[in-house]
Amino acid sequence: NAHLAAADPQIAALLDAELDRQQTTLEMIASENFAPVAALEAQGSVLTNKYAEGYPGKRYYGGCEFVDQVETIAIDRLKQLFDATYANVQPHSGASANAAALHAVATVGDTILGLDLANGGHLTHGMKLNFSGRLYNPVAYHVDADGLVDMDEVRALALEHRPRVIIAGWSAYPRQLDFAAFRAIADEVDAVLWVDMAHFAGLVAAGLHPSPLPHAHIVTTTTHKTLGGPRGGVILTNDEAVAKKIRSAVFPGQQGGPLEHVIAAKAVAFKMALEPGFRERQERTIEGARIVADRLMAADARDAGVQVLSGGTDVHLVLVDLRESELDGQQAEDRLHEVGITVNRNAVPNDPRPPMVTSGLRIGTPALATRGFAAEEFGEVADVIAEALKPGDVDIQGLRKRVAVLAERFPLYPDITPFTA
Ligand code: PLP
Repeated sequence: NAHLAAADPQIAALLDAELDRQQTTLEMIASENFAPVAALEAQGSVLTNKYAEGYPGKRYYGGCEFVDQVETIAIDRLKQLFDATYANVQPHSGASANAAALHAVATVGDTILGLDLANGGHLTHGMKLNFSGRLYNPVAYHVDADGLVDMDEVRALALEHRPRVIIAGWSAYPRQLDFAAFRAIADEVDAVLWVDMAHFAGLVAAGLHPSPLPHAHIVTTTTHKTLGGPRGGVILTNDEAVAKKIRSAVFPGQQGGPLEHVIAAKAVAFKMALEPGFRERQERTIEGARIVADRLMAADARDAGVQVLSGGTDVHLVLVDLRESELDGQQAEDRLHEVGITVNRNAVPNDPRPPMVTSGLRIGTPALATRGFAAEEFGEVADVIAEALKPGDVDIQGLRKRVAVLAERFPLYPDITPFTA
């Protein structure tokens, strides 16, 4: 552990500062989690040195006998986890997986239909500055006044624009999508249904959320959100013809050498997701989100101008609407940061404020569930959030102490020795 501190004390000190930040604050960014130490070890391994363009058994470089086995194990575990017949574990990130997915099933200039960014969609679903909006012709559907995806609008837009691809998936949405309904619309207009399950993949793997695999032509996900693995992406399908297209879209279509050290870490995370404790953790994740939603719907929070979009949650996150609050999204995020809780501000539908300010918050529970939080602790953290979001003077020091007590009771990475220790 001494090499980094000797070679580069500046970076070593910053990594230690980040470890301390993660250990002493409460992480509630819905897209984040804590990868297991075993995955961190795999990712920090000599596999980072290996070039392996191609796929197991068919590489363009020699010396791939061990990384071939690693990648094959990752693929097999991923297929088992989601009951899929084809899995590609090479995408470097969620955005890379999504670029490859569109590369596989669409042609530049094709129309794609996805959830609007400000309504909870992702950049890669057709945002105008993203590759998806620049290379393809994006059309967006929205959520209705209750905050639910408007399936009538999805169908109307599909019939009007005849998209090549319909995208079901989100970065900020507190409910489950009806994949069968999406597929029916896709079939009606002869479109490909692509589900981006990046956020809820862990819930799907645990059997706590419907799987998109029986309905979608192509499924992408990140591996680092609810799934709890290293930062990365993967692509799945049960359609043999689509599988062939994905294979060549990832390599040579989008990427060069795969990150075999990350693929090893993905394999470790998939193994853990197949073990029984994973489901229990995902159950606590959802329970925690429900507890936060319920607390923020109580009378005192309502009086403070806090509302919960869609009136609750079915997943691992809660969307808070602050349009009636004295605090905007930025101020609320800053205030929670002051008490030691990390969240991100988030646009609400028809948000009157600009995207850098917003009128909402996205609060997620996966990282705290990984840390061991259960109903009691989620109740306490929900109460701290509700108190912090009240108007006027708030007892920041008092709330900070309550956060510190929770963080100490659930030590994170206790076995990791700081580099500069
Ligand atoms: N897809 C969805 C739905 C996401 O929420 C995200 C990340 O926020 C991504 C894709 C992109 O993942 P990455 O940040 O790994 O590129």
